[in-house]
Amino acid sequence: MPVSFRVFLTGSRCSWVHCLFARLLSIMTVLKYLQAYPSALQDQVRQLIASNRLADYLQQRYPERHAVQSDKALYSYAQGLKQAYLRNAPNLDKVVFDNRLDLTHRALGLHTAVSRVQGGKLKAKKEIRIASLFKDAAPQFLKMIVVHELAHLKESDHNKAFYQLCEHMQPGYHQLEFDLRVYLTYRELPGNG
Ligand SMILES: [Zn+2]
Repeated sequence: MPVSFRVFLTGSRCSWVHCLFARLLSIMTVLKYLQAYPSALQDQVRQLIASNRLADYLQQRYPERHAVQSDKALYSYAQGLKQAYLRNAPNLDKVVFDNRLDLTHRALGLHTAVSRVQGGKLKAKKEIRIASLFKDAAPQFLKMIVVHELAHLKESDHNKAFYQLCEHMQPGYHQLEFDLRVYLTYRELPGNG
């Protein structure tokens, strides 16, 4: 009998059939957050899932949690990054955590210019909304999503200049975006979240 079967059999509260089924499901599942990446890379993630090593991968690289827990703290956090890297970009009027940002629509962050009439003039208010799941995340992941939304103050598209700006604000941005997507994948595996 293969070793992996013995592991299932020793599980106290679930039958090995159930475990095997859940595991197969997660392996076959389309990795929706990683679809833009090469299939070889996606297969590596599937292998980590299949061998129950995805949690270790994330824990080893991102063991910390940040302390930015309120909208006020988030605003000063974003403002600090903006002052350091994007002084000439438009002012930020509002930066908040938003628990309505729907993950299924892949909107982890949102930047908007809300037009309001002020003193007879039309004024565009710049707002950034960050999905609430980032309250409980590694500092690198919070920074990545804020950097992403800040970069949109200058570049509306995901073009080369946009990613250069992200990389300038957070070296290793591309790796972090990949790992963040791995983290989101992990959260949605059966039994996590
Ligand atoms: Zn974007």
